Formats: sequence, structure tokens, C-alpha cells
Amino acid sequence: MKKILSICPYCGLGCRFIINVEGDNITGIELYRNEINNGKLCPKGITAIDFINNKNRLNTPLKLVNNKHISISWDIALNEISNKLTNIIKNYGSNAIAFLASARCSNEENYLLQKIARLLGTNNIDHCARLCHSSTIAGLSQTLGAAAQTGTFNDILDTNLLLIWGYNPAETHPVIMNYILKAKYKGTKIIVADPRKTKTTWFADIHLDLNSGTDVYLINTIINLIIKLKLYNEKFIYLKTKNFKQLINSVKSYNLEYAEKITGIPKHIIYKTAITFATAKKAIIMWAMGITQHITGTNNVIALCNLGLLCGYVGKKGCGIFPMRGQNNVQGACDMGTLPNVFPGYLKINDTNAKKLSKLWHSNNISANPGLTIQEIFEAISKKKIKALYVMGENPAVSDPDTSHVIKTLKSLELLVVQDIFLTSTAKLAHYVLPAALYAEKEGSFTSSERRVQWNFKAVEPPGKAKPDWEILCLLGKKLQLPQMNYNCIEDITIEISNIIPNYKGITPTRLKEKINGLKWPCPHIRHPGTDTLHQIKFATSDGKAHFVPTNFTFPREETTTNFPFTLTTVRIVGQYHTMTMTGKSKSIMKRWKEPFIEINPIDANDLNIKNNDQIKIITKRGSYICKAKITKNVKPKMLALPWHWGANLLTNRLIDPYSKIPAFKINACRIEKV
Ligand code: SF4
Repeated sequence: MKKILSICPYCGLGCRFIINVEGDNITGIELYRNEINNGKLCPKGITAIDFINNKNRLNTPLKLVNNKHISISWDIALNEISNKLTNIIKNYGSNAIAFLASARCSNEENYLLQKIARLLGTNNIDHCARLCHSSTIAGLSQTLGAAAQTGTFNDILDTNLLLIWGYNPAETHPVIMNYILKAKYKGTKIIVADPRKTKTTWFADIHLDLNSGTDVYLINTIINLIIKLKLYNEKFIYLKTKNFKQLINSVKSYNLEYAEKITGIPKHIIYKTAITFATAKKAIIMWAMGITQHITGTNNVIALCNLGLLCGYVGKKGCGIFPMRGQNNVQGACDMGTLPNVFPGYLKINDTNAKKLSKLWHSNNISANPGLTIQEIFEAISKKKIKALYVMGENPAVSDPDTSHVIKTLKSLELLVVQDIFLTSTAKLAHYVLPAALYAEKEGSFTSSERRVQWNFKAVEPPGKAKPDWEILCLLGKKLQLPQMNYNCIEDITIEISNIIPNYKGITPTRLKEKINGLKWPCPHIRHPGTDTLHQIKFATSDGKAHFVPTNFTFPREETTTNFPFTLTTVRIVGQYHTMTMTGKSKSIMKRWKEPFIEINPIDANDLNIKNNDQIKIITKRGSYICKAKITKNVKPKMLALPWHWGANLLTNRLIDPYSKIPAFKINACRIEKV
């Protein structure tokens, strides 16, 4: 029996486990004690081999003919795709094509896809970080200069206070919840800001159940109090930051009376929060989509960074700014430059950097103009400006807001290519579907939420004619006659990444295969052990200082009306993942988490004569959706919470944060009816 060390294909923690293989078959999963999960897995991780041998895996290239997918050879598929892309570029220009990369594919695969896009002359490349943490990237870049978690998960065990904002690790990152509970047992104070009562808030010393979307008002009020009470870290601010005066002026008008009115949190609780946070000496601020997916997402992130900097809780052990990532390689996909406004390594898109890459990649085609984000790509498709979309391992027909609009848009394309492991809702619409290998069938590196880069080992062969994504991309690149597509193995791409991205310089395939716990970037040369704490000496900004950035509160949208009097928020649950492409194929997961439900407060349920398990129709301006009712005080009156995995984005709105272009999934005006 072979024992292959793997990485969990689900969330961004990077838990490892062993896959047992006999002959060509996977026989089981085994726990593995390492630095991250110490032999523990959540329900998703423990069932992560369930979908590998599913009979519906894609195993041959497909072409849409007369509304039916027929099987074709790799050669025909890649020739036709290459010819169509070339013709579209010839007729309409390079920006008539766009690419979606994948936070579930390896660093090498993401690097290669963005390289192909850029060698074809466009920066129209984005991925699902746009939908979860693009506001984090925008906020951290402005304040700290680096779009990454500043410390490691072990810091959670070494801190005095955890400020958990818009984040429910008990459902989304159970292994992190273990760290949090261990810390609590040791005496760490826990403050949770969340409009709902969740399994995480059960363990909070203070639960700030603020009204949805009022985060900036609450954070700025806390900042103002800390300044007034002179509880800020003067030395840190003097030595390591700039714009403190601007921060003071910007929060002056944020007062307790109005804060109580707007946020719904009593004054004395806000006061207690400010004192507890400022006097903790060591604190970590953690957040997730509860604050990022708003029209004020970037301002929410900036406000939390301002708060952390005010007390000097950055750049030392037991402190930090922790944006908690949802997908297993979302950090890596961003690092690799699958974003429309930066090249690999977050190199700004401009003339100088375009010339630099042109030289490295032997191409005259690199554009110095930023490309379009996912939402902008869909708008450009609607306006017939984009004619072709190439999607690797993403499922926008379910994951993006207002999915009826997305599906209509995808159907209008001249060319839609989807590279995936199953015939997803998006793949069903594709002119060409290319079968890909999944995590256990290929090698490559993945970067976790704490910047830990780990090597994933191959356990078994992919089914039928399916191929690893990087091999498909190399073949396509050659058909397109692009330079530098002759990679002999995936390690060749890892080495190119380490030559191009300074933070990955010391991260070579040989070291990754030896270091089972991985290496954390920045890892500037091949003898460097990797860095646990960012910003210890200076910040990653151009002047080496952290920047306070004043933020103003704006009222959340979409506003409720008499016709749509409820606020609907979308949430995640522990057993399901993203659009259920993988968890939906696990029998044990589907037995336990088989259907969606909507959380309704007992007062509203009583008013509308709704009982538990009644079928409820949820209606927004975009569409309607039916699921069972769950009556609970976890949500406030006039608030509804719905897991999104089963297709709830049919209901969500297309409003976006102007800075990061993240959609505002968290606030949707709706009404409900008993079916
Ligand atoms: Fe996988 Fe995340 Fe669960 Fe760990 S916590 S087992 S990485 S889904």
C-alpha cells in the first residue's frame, strides 16, 4: 500500500492528510499530525476523497453541437479553441477575450493561465478572490502594503485577545476554531462582531450583534474612544506609521450616542469593547466575508487595519491582522497575479513592469493597461465587447451575484471554454469542456491563508483522458504558438515562479518536497526558513511605514422598501463548500447537510404564520427561491440568513464596492411568502 501526503482541497487553512492507495485505487484517508491541523480534519476534509471516483467525472474533451455535448479528441478540441481565440483576437483585439483562474488550482496552474492571458495581450484575468477577499487585498495594500495575513495560526495561541469580525470559524474553518477554543481555555478574551448569533459567538466574552452594514460606524467610534482615552500605542504610531492626524480628524464626529442608534449596540458595550481591546497588550484581528462582501468592503477592512495599527498590534508575535481565506489556494492565485490590475507578485501594471515581463517572457505583447474584474467582464460580455471567456475551475453560473443575469451573459458568448472536473452549471453552457485532473491526481504547490506554501503529491492517475490543468494549458499555449510553453514537468513552472516573484525566490520544488510543513513567504533565498511575522522591521509600503487611511461610514445598500421589507444575508455552513461541485458528490455530506434552509426570527415567523420546516418563497428584484424555514433567534427581526451553496445567488444583487469591485452579497432587500 502507498501512503501519499496530500493537501485538503477545500478551505484556505492547508490541512494535510494521507491518501492510502492500493494498486491504482484509493482505499482510504488517514489523519496526519503536522504543524497546521495536528491530525484533525473538519467534516469536509475527512470526506475529501469521496468525489474522486464519482461516475460523473469528466473524462474526455466535449464540444457543444446542436445543444448537446459530444466527445472529441484533445487535438481537435485544442486546435478549434486555439483557432477561435486567434480569430477573435484578429477581428476584435486582445481585450475581446477574458480568463477566469481558480483558487482551487495550484500556483503553477494559475501562473500559467495568467501568463497565457498576458502573452495574448490582455490583462482581462480574474478569479473568485474578487467575490470573497478583493476588498481585503485593496484595504491591506493601502494600509500595510502587503495583501496577506501578517502572522501564523500559532499566534492565536500566543495572544491575549481575539477580535473576530464578520467571521464564523465554527462553520467555515473548524480547525481554526480548535485554535480559538484552546486560546480561550488559556484565558484569551474573545470579542465577536456579527449581526447573527453563531456557534462562534457562543464562546465570545463580548458579542457585538451590530446591525448589518454598520461596521465602519462601530469601528470608527471605537477608534475615537481609544484616542480620546489616550489608550493608543504612541511609540508604535510615531515610529512606524503615518497619517495619524488625519485619522484623528476623520473619527472625531463618531460618537457613542449615534453609534448606539445606528449599530444597535448599547453604549456601555461599545465602551467596554474599546477599553478591552486597547489594553490587551497583544491582540489579533480576524475577519472574513461578513465584512468584505459589502459595498463598503474596502472601507471595512481599512477601518479594522486602522484599529489594529492604533494599538500597535501588527509586526510582533501574538498579534496580527488575519483575513481568513475561503479556498485552498486563494492566496496563491492572488500571489501568481491572476488579477486584472497586477502582474505576478503584485507588480503594478504599468509601462515599466510590462517591459520587464516582456523581456522575461520573450514577448512584445504584454499590455500595460489594467484589465477587467469578473463583474466588469460580465458587463463587457453583455455589451458585446468581450466575445470569448476561458474558465479554469470556476463556476460563475452559481457563485456570482444575480445568476440569471450571469447565465444569460454566458450564453451570449461566441466562445466559452470550461476546464473542470465535473460538468458544472457553467460547463453545461460551454462550447468546449476540457476534463481536468483533481488534487489527488496531480502535483503542485498551494499557498495557505498564513502564506505557507506546501507541495501536493500525486496519488492516482486521472480518469480517462483527463489531464492536469497545467498540462492542458501548456498544450493550448503551444497550439497558440506562444513563447516559453515547453515545460517538461510542473517543477519547471515552480522554478520560473521562484525566479519571477521575489517573495517566492527561496521556494523551490526540491525544498517543498523535503519540507512537509512547507515554507512561508517571504522566503527571499534558498537558505531562508520562511517568515512567520510580517512587518517586524518595516511595512511593505513604498516608505516602509503603515498608513492610517481615513474612512467614512455610508449607509448599507440595498435598502429595504415596503415591497421588500427584509434584509437577506448569505452565509456558509460547515458541511458544504462553495457551489457544491465537490461536497455535493459526497454521500455522507449530503446525508447530513442535504438541503438549504432560511433562518427567520420568531417574531417575523409569527407575523407571517410560518412554522419550522414550512416551505418559504424568498423573493428579490432578481428572482425567487424556495427552501425550508428554520425559526431561530440567531437572526434579528427583519433579518434572514440563507446558505448560498444551493444556488441562492439567484437572489443576490449586483451592487459592488467601488474600490475592490467585490459584490455586496451580504445585504439584499427581499420579501418572503409561505408556499
Ligand atoms: Fe480542509 Fe479547511 Fe476543513 Fe482543514 S478546516 S480539513 S483545510 S476544509
